[in-house]
Amino acid sequence: MHKITRSGWVEVVTGSMFSGKTEELLRRLRRAEIAGQDVAAFTPAIDDRFGETTIGSHEGRQWDAQVIENEGAGVWDLEDHLNGEQVVAIDEANFFTEELVDVCEKLAGDGRRVIVSGTDITFRGEPFTPLPELMATAEYVDKLRAICTVCGEPATRNQRLVDGRPAHVDDPTIVVGAEESYEARCRNCHTLRTG
Ligand code: ZN
Repeated sequence: MHKITRSGWVEVVTGSMFSGKTEELLRRLRRAEIAGQDVAAFTPAIDDRFGETTIGSHEGRQWDAQVIENEGAGVWDLEDHLNGEQVVAIDEANFFTEELVDVCEKLAGDGRRVIVSGTDITFRGEPFTPLPELMATAEYVDKLRAICTVCGEPATRNQRLVDGRPAHVDDPTIVVGAEESYEARCRNCHTLRTG
C-alpha cells in the first residue's frame, strides 16, 4: 500500500455507523498478521460493547485490544503499552479527545503504520473531533458509506433515536449506557428534534 518510503504513516477508516469501518480495520489487521507483522490494537475505555479487551465488528469478528484512557494526557498511555509492534490499530477513535491526533503523529513519526477507525460525524451531522483532524493529517483516508434505513440511498449520517424518536439537537454528543439506538441515514432522511 505504501511502497516508496520506509517511514511510518497514518490510515483513517471513517464514515457513518454501520458502514463497515471496524470490519475493514479487522481485515487490514488480519492481512498484517498473515504477513507476520506484529499488531497492537487499542480501544477507548468508554466503549465496553464487546468486553474490555476486544475490538468487535457487528459481523461478530474480534481482535484482542488493550483498553486505554480516552481523554487528556491519558491518551498517551497508548505509547507505553507498545512493545515494538510495527502496526498500531485504534478503534472507536471518535471517543478519544484531540490528543489522539498528536499520539498518531508521534507513532507514524517513529516509523509505525497507524490505522485509525471511527465515525467522522456526530448525531447532529457535525464534524466529530478528532476524526476531521486525523483525516487532514493522515496519508490515507477511506470514507465508507452505509445504506439509509429509510430510503436506501448511500448513508453518511448517524441517526440517534431515543424511544424511537429523533434525538434532540441539544443532547450531548457522547452518551454512554443510555437507552438509545442508531440508524444509518442519508442527508435527506436524517432528522433532529428541535422543539
Ligand atoms: Zn435516506
